[in-house]
Amino acid sequence: MLGTLLARAGVDVLVLEKHRDFLRDFRGDTVHPSTMEVIHELGWLDAFLARPHQELRQLAGRIGDEHVTLADFSHLPVACPFIAMMPQWDFLDFLVSQARRYPGFHLLMNAEVTDLIEDHGRVTGVAVQTADGPSNVEAALVVAADGRGSMLRDKAGLEVIDLGAPMDVLWMRLPKHAGDPSDVLGNIRNGHIFVTIDRGDYWQCGFVIAKGGYDELRQEGIESLRQTIAGIVPFLADRVAELRDWDAIRLLRVEVNRLREWARDGLLCIGDAAHAMSPVGGVGINLAIQDAVAAANILAQPLRDGRVDLPVLRRVQARRQFATRATQRLQVLLQERVIGRTLRGGSPTALPLVARLLNQHPVLRRLPARMVGMGFRPEHVETPDILA
Ligand SMILES: Cc1cc2nc3c(=O)[nH]c(=O)nc-3n(C[C@H](O)[C@H](O)[C@H](O)COP(=O)(O)OP(=O)(O)OC[C@H]3O[C@@H](n4cnc5c(N)ncnc54)[C@H](O)[C@@H]3O)c2cc1C
Repeated sequence: MLGTLLARAGVDVLVLEKHRDFLRDFRGDTVHPSTMEVIHELGWLDAFLARPHQELRQLAGRIGDEHVTLADFSHLPVACPFIAMMPQWDFLDFLVSQARRYPGFHLLMNAEVTDLIEDHGRVTGVAVQTADGPSNVEAALVVAADGRGSMLRDKAGLEVIDLGAPMDVLWMRLPKHAGDPSDVLGNIRNGHIFVTIDRGDYWQCGFVIAKGGYDELRQEGIESLRQTIAGIVPFLADRVAELRDWDAIRLLRVEVNRLREWARDGLLCIGDAAHAMSPVGGVGINLAIQDAVAAANILAQPLRDGRVDLPVLRRVQARRQFATRATQRLQVLLQERVIGRTLRGGSPTALPLVARLLNQHPVLRRLPARMVGMGFRPEHVETPDILA
């Protein structure tokens, strides 16, 4: 997104992606109203909505046998008052298709960054391994948007503050049948949490497990896992046999952390590289997009002028730090109060009271919708379009 916005503003950009395509481990599909508002401001909304997606206007769940509606996006004052469920590779392909219209945009797939290049303490480029062999790329600015496992932030020696997470997630697919409920996302029952995401013709499922509990689950065997899932979400009981073995299941480790400093001279971290987000609320993609918009707003002109010094880079952190911290604080609270307690076998105490209120008073559902859908401090595109 940052590459797209900078190229749109007339800056030369090279995006390096280590994979040959954008297919990767499942990391969520949620494109939130705040992100679609940005796409709307860019004038690309029709093209975006023409891509296959599902529209989620409410967030609902099941606690035991009780159906609860937790958030209602339909009242948000935005172009798209819903969450668009769109696979990440489609969303990234969409961004690239827009970016390619700008002469300054260059994307190199199959290009793995292996090191930082420095000169007297300033980052001046990266070493990259491509299909044609190793090479070096020099740049006025290196942006580390390499995700939660960011190698660049490690190489830069930036300090990570770990906030911890009590859970990991097992991801799997199960078939969808006609007549399946369509609006339920989270299921809490028997001390377990199971998420069902409607992907049109199948369910993308997330089984939340206690951190480090994967080996024990495997020892208990796949049949035990099938029974557990059927116990949490009864309508899936007739198809859990489709989980033939552990190859059908991926373990995704949850981390919540952030950098004390997002920048060094010549280098800026954004997105998960600056702050790995918990899956709680499905906000990580959207926060990364907001970082990109803020970074483009702050950096486009200095980049065009060839003056990107450390104080300018620090302005990006100053702009995005509050939203990041506030979101992580809420995520950690929910992780501890609801997820951690549920997984330890206790009943969630905070949620039922809140859930009851939200269920009884639809107007209250607008608040969580605003927090999840728009987040703290939504950004607006301020950069110019050289083609306009
Ligand atoms: C289990 C799980 C579920 C989640 N569910 C959701 C959800 O539903 N909704 C949501 O909004 N967020 C969700 N998140 C969080 C979300 O995935 C991240 O916050 C978001 O993807 C961050 O975007 P990013 O661009 O910073 O990093 P990433 O999306 O991780 O992208 C980093 C990119 O850098 C590339 N890369 C890495 N290293 C190198 C290298 N050395 N050289 C070149 N390229 C490299 C990677 O291949 C990748 O394409 C979830 C996270 C987890 C763990």
